[in-house]
Amino acid sequence: MAKLDRSAGGGDARDKTRQEVVSLIRSAGQIARIDIAAKTGVSPATITAITQEMIQAGLIEEVAPDAGRTISGRGRPRVSLKLRGDAHLMAGIKVSFRFLSLVLVDFEGNTLGEHVQPISGPRVSPEALVKEIGMLLEAATAEIGRTPDDISGLGVGLAGTIDAIEGFVHWSPSLTERNVQLRNMLEAVLPMPVFLDNDANLVAKAEQLFGEARGVRDFIVVTIEQGVGMGIVIDGEVFRGTRGCGAEFGHTKVHLDGALCRCGQRGCLEAYVADYALLREADVSLPAPSGKTPAERLDLLFEASRSGNPTARSIIQRASRMFAMGLANLLNIFDPKLVILSGERMSHDFLYSDDVLAAMHDAVVQVDAPPPEVKIHKWGDQMWAKGAAAFAMEGVTELAVRRPAVDA
Ligand SMILES: [Zn+2]
Repeated sequence: MAKLDRSAGGGDARDKTRQEVVSLIRSAGQIARIDIAAKTGVSPATITAITQEMIQAGLIEEVAPDAGRTISGRGRPRVSLKLRGDAHLMAGIKVSFRFLSLVLVDFEGNTLGEHVQPISGPRVSPEALVKEIGMLLEAATAEIGRTPDDISGLGVGLAGTIDAIEGFVHWSPSLTERNVQLRNMLEAVLPMPVFLDNDANLVAKAEQLFGEARGVRDFIVVTIEQGVGMGIVIDGEVFRGTRGCGAEFGHTKVHLDGALCRCGQRGCLEAYVADYALLREADVSLPAPSGKTPAERLDLLFEASRSGNPTARSIIQRASRMFAMGLANLLNIFDPKLVILSGERMSHDFLYSDDVLAAMHDAVVQVDAPPPEVKIHKWGDQMWAKGAAAFAMEGVTELAVRRPAVDA
């Protein structure tokens, strides 16, 4: 495969159609040309020309008709198209407080390798992060007998306020500095184009490409980790806001002059549902066990609530009601088809409870149509990394279809 270059010439009017065709094939797995034409509304002749270009460029391939299927006798059996897995290798990395998690995927989205590397600190300098990502790519590709030179695109997800278009980090809890042109720093030392985004947006991307939101045009993903994040997808595109600061669900206000948040403001949702908020409440009236970590104290709080301690229960119930109110606000603003609640830790199960969903539904504008569907999807750092790989895959597709010239 030819090296992909971000600066390679502009595309033509067919670029968007090519992108659409690739994503249609990706979500279908296999699909015939005539069905692509029907679904995109593009003429069969154009679809034939476009797919021929992409076959020559090695992005897609024909699949022989299913020999096992009985042919009705009318016409030729239809040839389907699928993505060519070997076409490109992508890497996705999730930066968390303790680890860098990496996943390697092929162009079809199959996982080829996974690797986790401890990070040197919860907050690192941009230079240190670039170096550690370089080491991680070396180690991970070596495991599958490849090198970083084989990677067509790298997606990197980290928490914070990130301008994905510019690859610019306004602020991230993982970095010691603000205002970092992290994409350019990475591309200066790595051999592949780099795609950078807020981690919650990447979860939305992963849900769209591989997960619960396949084929859904309008949906919202709410991520529950140390903080509360959100990814908004409108008409198939991640909505990013103007400054890359949108979708700060955790800092929407749920109480006038309410509890103090880490961001310095009052009444934010996070100030009621985040770990520190629950522990702050617990510290007021529950016996404080000595020598326990915050995670252990949190476990004790959940345990006390489950066993009927009225104070513990009131803490959890208040957080649940605040979360339900926040979700209802989202539904009332966006009216999405689907809401995915996505998180890793079982300890936050109370936020996914039937009570929370019932309270949310009560606060949503009622009409004679079914309310948005709510799905719960628990996953770990590797899936966040897969979201980063999904973002890289999208970027690589964009670069690859721009000039689907045959690789000499
Ligand atoms: Zn806040």
